[in-house]
Amino acid sequence: TTVFVSGATGFIALHVVDDLLKAGYKVIGSGRSKEKNDGLLKKFNNNPNLSMEVVEDIAAPNAFDEAFQKRGKDIKVVLHIASPVQFNTTDFENDLLIPAVNGTESILEAIKKYAADTVEKVVITSSVAALAAPTDMSNNGFVVNEESWNKDTWESCQADAITAYCGSKKFAERAAWDFVKENQSAIKFTISTINPGFVFGPQLFTNSLKNGINSSSAIIAKLVRSKASGKFYNFSGPFIDVRDVSKAHLAAFENPKCAGRRLFLCEDLFCSQDVVDVLNEEFPQLKGKIATGEPGSGPGYLAKNCCKCDNSETKRLLGFKFHSFKNCIVDTASQLLEVQNEA
Ligand code: NDP
Repeated sequence: TTVFVSGATGFIALHVVDDLLKAGYKVIGSGRSKEKNDGLLKKFNNNPNLSMEVVEDIAAPNAFDEAFQKRGKDIKVVLHIASPVQFNTTDFENDLLIPAVNGTESILEAIKKYAADTVEKVVITSSVAALAAPTDMSNNGFVVNEESWNKDTWESCQADAITAYCGSKKFAERAAWDFVKENQSAIKFTISTINPGFVFGPQLFTNSLKNGINSSSAIIAKLVRSKASGKFYNFSGPFIDVRDVSKAHLAAFENPKCAGRRLFLCEDLFCSQDVVDVLNEEFPQLKGKIATGEPGSGPGYLAKNCCKCDNSETKRLLGFKFHSFKNCIVDTASQLLEVQNEA
């Protein structure tokens, strides 16, 4: 079975590619340039079951046509993971909303045009951001579950970069469900979505950390490098380990019960204070050198400032245990420290 993975060079996607190869699948990945693609192939020791196609910009019209025209007949499963994850912009439409929505539409259109007979399953990497708007995420009376939808409109989500990113995930996911509804007779695939909370955990390849860091891992990196007297922004929300996110991408197409479902991946709620507490408790070399905030105040903060999450349906469908918060943070920080010590 051949699986197409868009945005294969990203933090989450690299784990997915690795799990797919280990499970015996053939993988066709997409990356933004020949250089990035060659770098990825090399990291996987030129595994003969892995090949790459260039899709330079998912915002461009018909971005996936060439790749699917060429390879579509071999592809049975599509995992659409590429989407902009960046908060350093004020051009919300061009940097976040349009690429997210166009990318989703153009990959589905490309399947319809060139691989309608072969593709059976599509998994869209959405987010908890599609389930709840930031104002709901910080409301302790709000319960998020697999049925929830971010209430922001195209206009209201353009308040700031975080709200716009959340909107981009909502409108991209909506576009996918709408596409399936409107094209029932022209396609045979079913879709599932993966809706993770904040994703932490180790990079698949330690040395990727030398070329920058993805946005969610940067939250942990900043705390590992914080100053003893330093203040930090108390991020809060659901979290999940990247290794579980990857596993769920495979389950989403392997388990027939996941067809047509949204999988809300959350192990627990967390806030930055909880991260700092684990770092101070578990790493003697950091204790006293990094921020401490108010140790032990995390649960109280969350009770006041964070929504509740109910993903019992997802847990029932997936049936595997997620990595614990402590395990996830320890593994993330150990890798960051390893790279820091080498530098
Ligand atoms: P990364 O930034 O590591 O991965 C994003 C991938 O998308 C990269 O390969 C990136 O390529 C590619 N991409 C972004 N914009 C474009 C574009 N315009 N054209 C082509 N490719 C593009 O982040 P993650 O691995 O964390 O994110 C993967 C997915 O998971 C995203 O859909 C994200 O929304 C979702 N997600 C992530 C969460 C998290 O906490 N990390 C939480 C919930 C959902 P390049 O690097 O070359 O620009």
